[in-house]
Amino acid sequence: MTMARARLPDVEIPKDIRLRYDRFLDHFKGFEDLPAVRAIFGSKTKTALQSLRVEFFSSKWGYMGVSDEDGHLVVSTHYLRTGKRRDIYLDVIHELVHVRQFREGKELFPEGFEYPSAPTEIEAYRTCVAEGRRLGMDDAELFEYLKVEWMDEKDVRKLARNVGVRPPPRRPRRSARKRASS
Ligand SMILES: [Zn+2]
Repeated sequence: MTMARARLPDVEIPKDIRLRYDRFLDHFKGFEDLPAVRAIFGSKTKTALQSLRVEFFSSKWGYMGVSDEDGHLVVSTHYLRTGKRRDIYLDVIHELVHVRQFREGKELFPEGFEYPSAPTEIEAYRTCVAEGRRLGMDDAELFEYLKVEWMDEKDVRKLARNVGVRPPPRRPRRSARKRASS
């Protein structure tokens, strides 16, 4: 059986839209001098960041990410307005790892991996977790930082283990028997 081709009304829909990019360094300043960032790009840090472009988008969901089309950074303006500065900072470090991975030709969203065990994510998280520790964050704070709405508790724990963050003890199951006293 062949599908009848849908007939569209007389409308125009664009195909190729030029994205609006800004220079990363025009908005995110001082990153090129950080040891954490130099550890990502090495001696090419300055040129790597000079060539990095950022695209801002306005949406209440999503934080930031790297385009798997051309490796530019995408950042939610809502997140910049409402997120914790510390989390945003660590996210930038995380995404810069993805920028380097993309430029190395790595697949950012490799097939066959769940988010908590994708090698590209583990490397990015290990880098920002190390920076978080350097800033004085403990395991409990880092675990909180790892939580995002697309991972359930089990996945966050898995990710935490994969990136060397000790998950807090599981909430004890309520016992079936009533305690004698409390
Ligand atoms: Zn990531």
